[in-house]
Amino acid sequence: MSAGDTPDDKDAVARAELIMRLRGQNVASARVLSALERTPRSLFLDAPHKSLAYLDRAAPIDCGQTISQPTIVAMMTEALDVADDHRVLEIGTGSGYQAAVLSRLAGEVYSIERHPRLATTAEERLRVLGLSNVHVRVGDGNAGWPEAAPFDRIIVTAASEAVPQALVEQLSPEGVLVAPVGPEYGPQTLMRCTLENGELVGEELGAVAFVPMRSGVGRL
Ligand code: SAH
Repeated sequence: MSAGDTPDDKDAVARAELIMRLRGQNVASARVLSALERTPRSLFLDAPHKSLAYLDRAAPIDCGQTISQPTIVAMMTEALDVADDHRVLEIGTGSGYQAAVLSRLAGEVYSIERHPRLATTAEERLRVLGLSNVHVRVGDGNAGWPEAAPFDRIIVTAASEAVPQALVEQLSPEGVLVAPVGPEYGPQTLMRCTLENGELVGEELGAVAFVPMRSGVGRL
């Protein structure tokens, strides 16, 4: 990462303005908004897209993937209800932005990405920010991260028709899982799920559009 990528005062002002707009929308608590405010989204975008950093828009990232729009990151993080001693699993590291926001709220964050190139770049960005409580691994998120389970919280940032069973098994009994559920090109619903007798029960949070959860590990 070059010096030109280092967020400056102008970046902090743009970030504060975005947070003010999010505050007006009432999508998240002060604690979540503060985590977003301390996380320069521009750092997680590639050079051609940096101008989109503080617009409330999704943006393209490497490997044909997308970074979610800030409102959705705020809403999902809020729904996850993370405490500072929680162990959190994220499926779909992507740019690393959601993991960085979570790292400010949780004890440890475990994040799985199927594209090695995205995982490497995300790790580098997290390192630059000094966020040493995030662990990134290349793998298929459908299998979760059994060695680090159970997790107090699980967040899935790619859409699948059903929540993978491995993730249900790696959620602690009092845990919360937030995931977009639905087909690749069809309607997807953001779900907030908890366990009842070992089964997931969910509450619908609204319509969303996420890139699909794929199987296996990517070539790039
Ligand atoms: N949370 C990310 C956005 C993720 S976009 C951010 O803050 O930038 C969804 C990501 O999920 C993509 O990077 C995609 O490669 C990844 N993904 C899709 N299927 C996956 C799988 N089975 N295991 C791990 N990652 C997966």
